[in-house]
Amino acid sequence: MKILVINCGSSSLKYQLFDMTDESVLAKGLIERIGLAGSVLTHEPEGREKVKITAEVDNHTAAIKLVVDALTHKDYGVIKTMQEIYAVGHRVVHGAEKFAGSVRITPEVMQALEECSEMAPLHNPPNISGINACEELMPQVPQVGVFDTAFHQTMPPKAYIYGLPYEAYEKYGVRRYGFHGTSHRFVSGRVAEVLGRDIKELKIITCHLGNGSSIAAIEYGQSIDTSMGFTPLEGLVMGTRSGDLDPAIIPYLMKKTGMNADEIDTYINKKSGVLGISGVSSDFRDIEVAAWKEGNQRAQLALDIFAYKVIKDIGAYAAAMNGVDVIVFTAGLGEKSKETRADVCKNLSYLGVKLDDEKNNVRSQLREISTEDSKVKVFIIPTNEELVIARDTKEICVSGRDRI
Ligand code: AMP
Repeated sequence: MKILVINCGSSSLKYQLFDMTDESVLAKGLIERIGLAGSVLTHEPEGREKVKITAEVDNHTAAIKLVVDALTHKDYGVIKTMQEIYAVGHRVVHGAEKFAGSVRITPEVMQALEECSEMAPLHNPPNISGINACEELMPQVPQVGVFDTAFHQTMPPKAYIYGLPYEAYEKYGVRRYGFHGTSHRFVSGRVAEVLGRDIKELKIITCHLGNGSSIAAIEYGQSIDTSMGFTPLEGLVMGTRSGDLDPAIIPYLMKKTGMNADEIDTYINKKSGVLGISGVSSDFRDIEVAAWKEGNQRAQLALDIFAYKVIKDIGAYAAAMNGVDVIVFTAGLGEKSKETRADVCKNLSYLGVKLDDEKNNVRSQLREISTEDSKVKVFIIPTNEELVIARDTKEICVSGRDRI
């Protein structure tokens, strides 16, 4: 059974084709610059050379068509015909309170997704375009939506209601939703599996640290709190996003600088975070080089601020759960930066965390990195959101259920 996983952004599309008999990836790829001049598809058939294809890709329908052409190509394809694709799973960013799990796409679901778009104007519309494009090109193939917000729908009201008049929640849906749920769900489940423990017995803190970053408190298998909120802007300092701010800063800066609502939105989403602090880059690799090799103090400050906030949020979630058994690091930085993991863990000795420096000296490998006698276990678990999407898609299609 072959399942295609699609992650549509506004001008990009990532895909992976899974063979679900053994969950192997047959091919994966990325189209960049959709709707712009010079669109490029990078297609990677498993075990073979990567191919780069330049084409006119005006919209998401053209993008999906290009993906299907690459997957079925006589030279670098991995399937003979499109009919081999059993189902398509889509990453959908915002499911609001409507979706606490994955769903089979129906006209009613599409209507609900449109309604959620107002809350995620940058993310949901391209997700919807991707679904529409697949409907158009492969109308017989079932489609499933897997939401970034769904896993956090178990948060209790005390974790998701803001200190605003209650009508902001009731009338406008202003509450904390949380994101990266597919990743937090995958790595928490995987670490329980690796430990040979029932997740229902564990208190886990998962740190998804990448370009976008969030932390989640997962108590007995359920997300009870997470650092991102109404949008993926809240919480940690990120590549280009500010993370938590005093909300009074927004009107203050608008008055001072004359920025309008859209401009300040860009300022805090695209120009802030470690990019804004360091003035160097949004990529932690560049900032590490600037800080450690070139002695750039603002780059060092950006790294310090990032790690400090992670430390504080881990402390908050250990308090929220009245303890923690396992801490997981995942995503680009969490999996690859031994320095960030060490910086964070050195301030967690009060919890009983002891990092093993030798075990920590690794990149992107599933590994326990705490010492034998560490009271709290610390792990690197490489995330795999695409596999979760493929598994959910399979389960929905095989079971015949509408949602899981
Ligand atoms: P992600 O959003 O999960 O794809 O993570 C991407 C981010 O991870 C990049 O922007 C980098 O900042 C960071 N990253 C990737 N590799 C490394 C590395 N070797 N050392 C430090 N940071 C890294």
